[in-house]
Amino acid sequence: MLTHLIRSKGPLNIVRRGRAIVSCVGLTADRMARSLAAFVDLLAAYDACATFPVTALTLRRRPAVLRSLLQGPARVELAVHGYRHSDMSLLAPSAQAAELTAAASIFHRERIPFTGFRAPYLRWNASLLTALRGAGYAYDSSQSILWPVLDRGWPVGGPPGDSDSHARADLQRLLEFCRPHPAETFPSLPFWADGILEIPVSFPDDEMLIERLRISDPARIAAIWIASLEQCHARGELFVLQLHPERLPLCAEALAAVLERARGLRPAVWLATLGDVAAWWQAHGNAAARTDRWPNAAGSALAVTGDIDALTAWDYVWRFLGA
Ligand SMILES: [Zn+2]
Repeated sequence: MLTHLIRSKGPLNIVRRGRAIVSCVGLTADRMARSLAAFVDLLAAYDACATFPVTALTLRRRPAVLRSLLQGPARVELAVHGYRHSDMSLLAPSAQAAELTAAASIFHRERIPFTGFRAPYLRWNASLLTALRGAGYAYDSSQSILWPVLDRGWPVGGPPGDSDSHARADLQRLLEFCRPHPAETFPSLPFWADGILEIPVSFPDDEMLIERLRISDPARIAAIWIASLEQCHARGELFVLQLHPERLPLCAEALAAVLERARGLRPAVWLATLGDVAAWWQAHGNAAARTDRWPNAAGSALAVTGDIDALTAWDYVWRFLGA
């Protein structure tokens, strides 16, 4: 587990991440419950919706917090984000299938509906897709796509200190770990992979911007995400925004700006959950030309997602111990 963390984050980042976890997530579930409530309120203000992939063991420890999301003012769906938060691409096929079964049983026991999956660390392989198909999932959303927007939002005079070599090295480590496709050559659209519908998630996400590139200016985060949304809209494609809810306090302004821009674009942007996108693509996607790709003649689609890896800092301790 420690080797894996060092590979994905680097040793210094583990220490920084530990401090950030305690300050963003907290030792009880109160802070995350407030962030999640604020997230849902913000969505509701724009008549938007979201998909929150949640790790099954986190759901088992705090079901009430997650169930309350389904009764809030915005339409929210949960998806499975692994049984535990581990790299499932390293598991044997039989172990992958067993983890999916164990995760589904927790969701069923807590009476939380789900149709889709996102892999922890966005790490997947062909046998995981086979296991997902065998378990009846409607979609997976683990393949990342990187939009060419990291130069957006610099202040006049060029980049400040966050272009330092440590930040660049951290970014490179993340890119090597998650292996995003470049948006310049890869469509940001659902596609079939080993019999399951793959819905690509867009980079840069909040982790890349805040943890890796140390960008803290909300206006710059907004500029980067809006540039991604606008490029996606010009291509008539799907922008799957990833914002881990524990960083909502740092990103609320940027999320509001993205939703404001999405509501102002013409042709309209279809705001959908990943489940909506999967259902639409299953029914219409194979035949969809650019002009009727999305419902109601929308020009592009936007799905807001936020992986819930943990509700308290103790969940990270359990993760470290392999549970
Ligand atoms: Zn995660």
